[in-house]
Amino acid sequence: MATVSSIQSAAVQVRNPATGELLAELPAASAVDVQAAILRARAAQPSWSAIGPKPRARILRKFLEILNRQRDEVAALITSEAGKPQVEALLTELVPALDAAQFCASQAATFLQPERIRHSNPIMKTKKGYLLREPHGVIGIISPWNYPFSIPTTEVLAALAMGNTVVLKPSELTPLCAFRLQTMLRQAGVPEAAFEIVIGDGAAGAALISSSQPVDKIVFTGSVRTGKQVAQAAAAKLIPVVLELGGKDPMIVLKDADVEVASSAALWGAFVNAGQTCLSIERCYVHRSLYPQFVTACAEKARKLRVGDGSRADVEIGPMIHEGQLAIVEGHVRDAIAHGAKVLAGGERLTQLGPNFYAPTVITNVDHSMALMREETFGPVLPIMQFDSEAEAVQLANDSDFGLAASIWTSDRTRGEALAQRIQAGTVMVNDCVTGFAICEAPHGGIKSSGIGRTHGRMGLEEMVRVKYVDSDMLPRMSKVWWYGYSQAFSEQMRGFVDFLFAGRWDKRLTGGIKSAAALRRKKI
Ligand code: NAD
Repeated sequence: MATVSSIQSAAVQVRNPATGELLAELPAASAVDVQAAILRARAAQPSWSAIGPKPRARILRKFLEILNRQRDEVAALITSEAGKPQVEALLTELVPALDAAQFCASQAATFLQPERIRHSNPIMKTKKGYLLREPHGVIGIISPWNYPFSIPTTEVLAALAMGNTVVLKPSELTPLCAFRLQTMLRQAGVPEAAFEIVIGDGAAGAALISSSQPVDKIVFTGSVRTGKQVAQAAAAKLIPVVLELGGKDPMIVLKDADVEVASSAALWGAFVNAGQTCLSIERCYVHRSLYPQFVTACAEKARKLRVGDGSRADVEIGPMIHEGQLAIVEGHVRDAIAHGAKVLAGGERLTQLGPNFYAPTVITNVDHSMALMREETFGPVLPIMQFDSEAEAVQLANDSDFGLAASIWTSDRTRGEALAQRIQAGTVMVNDCVTGFAICEAPHGGIKSSGIGRTHGRMGLEEMVRVKYVDSDMLPRMSKVWWYGYSQAFSEQMRGFVDFLFAGRWDKRLTGGIKSAAALRRKKI
């Protein structure tokens, strides 16, 4: 059996998914390397925490400036490593990262102020209570390939802003973005060991937990399968986790929706980043009265989309990440067709474009017996089903193991918001989709198999701290009424005190209060 120190990730080859070109070959971190990175980050943490939130915020603002200056180069790097069109990299990766830097820099100092907790019970009135939010120590961040810049960046910034140091294990498919992030953070003034990177596949990620001196918290983003492994390993050591996992997000198009707008939304929501977005529209439910126009509009629009190398400015859909992901998509589409589904657009590989291209696909005649409607497809496929009533739409939307996000389309916002209350998901968007992730103040995360905990916004900051309650009595020379020296008389007095607090009738309360007052003069041990 391998010992911990002999477990080693395979060397990492980074390829451009549009061309297959080898971009870099990197040595993978061994378990010993991962332990060393954790120890360096741990040694750096007290001084990083001690500089305080305002100096840290200044560093984050400096990072924002640097990132904004270098945004086109970073977007180009994202495209070469992950395939998405460069303008999409700018909008869906750079903007959320810049926004997160602004949010963390502006919120950190206020968020870390002690928070007063007021006591309602009169017997506790002499005490002042407050919450302190303190960094966990070293946060281990494990990230996926589909948003190789925005996902780790938003999480790293929140962790650093709260005074933690970080060890990041980026996806082995897209580690170059992580190095770019590290360079910019160091230029901004983050000390070297405050942000460490370990390269490698799952073994390097697992070592963040299995090391003899592991990280203090894990923020994991990835598949449900790996998320469960991470949760199990972390549970054995009682290491807290945030799990941002997969989704099967439903889109509900109500009968009063604008077909033109909703069909364009369905395409963008299903095909952005070639459908490899955790918040992608993976299932679409349309009211029977709009269904024929809606499916026709989606199919016509899908045929117009330009697929190709994301470095070309006119391309709308880039390649998928690799053959394995393409095979999952093909499998779902094939299975759906075998069970009666009808392909209205796409439904095939585009081998003439390169190794990993799949045509934007619109499929009807689908139902919940198909993998396409139950499992995460994570590709450019839009399956559409019709419904008759809102109750049926809600039932279909909730009939899933996942619960990341959902969207509702209607010209009546009040109706949409009422329906949102009935949907089982971490985020419900009315007349928009996917973009919840990009709102830096909004919490991001799921329910059911889509995960545990939240990133982004105040709730994301809350995950990066542990709460300490401090209780300080303002009358240090007064012994407490409830201390030893128990007697029959004391029991009577305390019964009176409970009446004083909780009796239904005011006269009973008054008598109880008078009876209990004598306890204040009681002799204690
Ligand atoms: P993945 O689970 O294969 O890998 C995610 C990360 O975990 C990678 O860095 C990987 O090397 C690492 N890893 C693998 N095995 C590990 C182990 N045993 N211990 C620790 N780390 C390990 O996921 P992926 O294919 O990179 O990403 C796609 C998935 O991520 C999709 O399911 C998608 O929905 C999900 N995702 C979720 C969100 C969200 O915010 N909810 C965002 C993006 C992606």
